Amino acid sequence: MDRIILLCMVSTCLSAVHTQKFLFSPKWGPIGYKEREEHGDGTAMDEIIKANEFQASRIIDGTTSLREGDIAVSAGRRNKVCFARSCLWSKSVDGHVYVAYRLSPEYSEMETKLIKKGMENIEEGTCVRFVPRTHQRDYIDIQPKSGCWSYLGARGGRQTVSLQSPDCLQVGVISHEFMHALGFVHEQSRFDRDNYVTIMWPSIWRDRLRNFEKFKTDNLDLPYDYGSIMHFGMYAYSQDGEPTIVPKNSKNIKLGQASTLSHIDKLKINRLYKCGTKDDY
Ligand SMILES: [Zn+2]
Repeated sequence: MDRIILLCMVSTCLSAVHTQKFLFSPKWGPIGYKEREEHGDGTAMDEIIKANEFQASRIIDGTTSLREGDIAVSAGRRNKVCFARSCLWSKSVDGHVYVAYRLSPEYSEMETKLIKKGMENIEEGTCVRFVPRTHQRDYIDIQPKSGCWSYLGARGGRQTVSLQSPDCLQVGVISHEFMHALGFVHEQSRFDRDNYVTIMWPSIWRDRLRNFEKFKTDNLDLPYDYGSIMHFGMYAYSQDGEPTIVPKNSKNIKLGQASTLSHIDKLKINRLYKCGTKDDY
């Protein structure tokens, strides 16, 4: 009898601990969420998840929310399908794609330098050029709002790219958000991704399963890019500390990229914008 009472007490205690964990869990973290120890191998997306899930709101304002963790989607506005070749920035007669930008005066000199480095990352080896806005109708408005996010592709007119300070001001994160603005989704959203990676559904936060959807992407005849700056890290949205994305065939492949675009990322830009593969970009 004593043993039964003791067992009951232990189970009551356990459920109390569980409740407490729930009450004190991070703002958007699921029950039992354990933050993984960082060893400096985090991807750009890992940093974005940290900034967006624990500090920023998922609802940017009343009508705009985030899809896949950091892609802004406006309700009520017919969202163009950007997975193919729509929503492109226009190409100049000189062969470059000029993306006009306005930078919030709230950024410090150091922060401005980092943002420009993020732009240079994309410009190097591609036909894209970021230019300060003068009169252009379409432009990106870079602001330190809450979280790191961008709309997908060119929407026409002014479009915000949010780079919260200091959480989102890392070169890889900045380049990742500009890649969304150029029209790219996350690499593991490719329709053929199941040939290359296994999604470990039971390890993903239950309310973030949708971040792992596949889309009808135009893969531009390029191979699956495990090392893309647009690839989620191996532990993205893990609720139990176990991997959520595992490369098929070889477990030694590193997923994602911390601070630079991969070679294939650059090819992607040049293919999407039909810029060829000129060496002089
Ligand atoms: Zn993203």
